[in-house]
Amino acid sequence: MTSMQTPYFLIDKARIENNLKVLHRVMDNTGCRILLAQKCFSCYALYPLISEYLSGATASGLFEARLCHEEMQGKENHIFSPSYRDDQIDEICRICDHIVFNSPVQLERFGRKAKDAGLQIGLRINPECSTQKGHAIYDTCAPGSRLGTRLCDLEDALRRNPSLLSLLDGLHFHTLCEQDADDLKTTLDAVVAKFGKYLPSMKWINFGGGHHITREGYHISLLERCIIAIRDEYHLQVYLEPGEAVALNAGELHSTILEIQPPDEQGIRNVILDTSAACHMPDVIEMPYTPPLQHSVPLGEDKSKEYIYRLGGPTCLAGDVIGVYQFDHPLQDGEELVFEDMAIYSMVKTNTFNGMPLPNIYIKESPSATTLWKHFGYEDFKHRL
Ligand SMILES: *Cc1c(COP(=O)(O)O)cnc(C)c1O
Repeated sequence: MTSMQTPYFLIDKARIENNLKVLHRVMDNTGCRILLAQKCFSCYALYPLISEYLSGATASGLFEARLCHEEMQGKENHIFSPSYRDDQIDEICRICDHIVFNSPVQLERFGRKAKDAGLQIGLRINPECSTQKGHAIYDTCAPGSRLGTRLCDLEDALRRNPSLLSLLDGLHFHTLCEQDADDLKTTLDAVVAKFGKYLPSMKWINFGGGHHITREGYHISLLERCIIAIRDEYHLQVYLEPGEAVALNAGELHSTILEIQPPDEQGIRNVILDTSAACHMPDVIEMPYTPPLQHSVPLGEDKSKEYIYRLGGPTCLAGDVIGVYQFDHPLQDGEELVFEDMAIYSMVKTNTFNGMPLPNIYIKESPSATTLWKHFGYEDFKHRL
């Protein structure tokens, strides 16, 4: 572990495995199958471990499906995309075993071909039941949503072409984000009220992601009751496809302080780090949220920590600010700061704006062994442009 140069991601294998054990227990208790949503976490160094516990993975498009096909061999390979391309559908049919369509139009266009290739066919439904409070950007049930088929649109399509129904093996919904099982229960009630009449002819139902199952205090027994109720009432195989829950609290982003500026007009010092919100943790700006930081709290959370700093990146973007934090000691040039919960929606979203280097990726294999998994340099920046 000599000279690990910041910025770098450090993925903790033991923490991933702890999450996987929690998820596997839900599978054991209910007979459900759980898939990794690769868009959240695709660090395939961990796919062999994930394969030991989960049923497979789901993809948002061809490339993620290929990654599962190559790195999780023998596991289930599901795909959902709002719209498939003519020039990709053949390869998708070759490597996937489940395909979920977003609309009756897509089902009509590609369903027969996928069925003949031996895939199970699903339709994503929109139960028009918003349970989101915090983040409108993640509300797939908001008015005007392009994600999922509303009941009225499904019924219109079936009036025109009743044979569409016979193509379907399953229904899929994805409406949650970092939510607990009570919101799942509310959503399932809406799914059954609206789409219940179609469930008896299905083989499976996919509850999507957004289940914060591995978060402290998540109501796992309610989740299990929800799964078992649908399983028994309609004789369905239930799927869940969480992303966050697989890699929650399992990674860090290490950075170094490059400079501490004089106090601003409010008396707060800006600190320039060698990591950037815009490039290395874009969800901080997009979502937005303030990531947890070791030995510190976001401003306002602890009156005893008297040293206040605004942490920002070394890019040109005025808004490249990670957050304002309180510390119990004065910060120093060269000090290392460690952001937590950085395995999810981080490595999959990094970019090289301003020519920023991508953080290297290290894997903590055990308490005493850390290995370099990926090193990035100038060529990675240049090759994309
Ligand atoms: C984002 C997404 C997931 C995973 O969501 P998490 O919040 O990471 O659990 C699963 N399925 C679909 C269709 C998604 O869009």
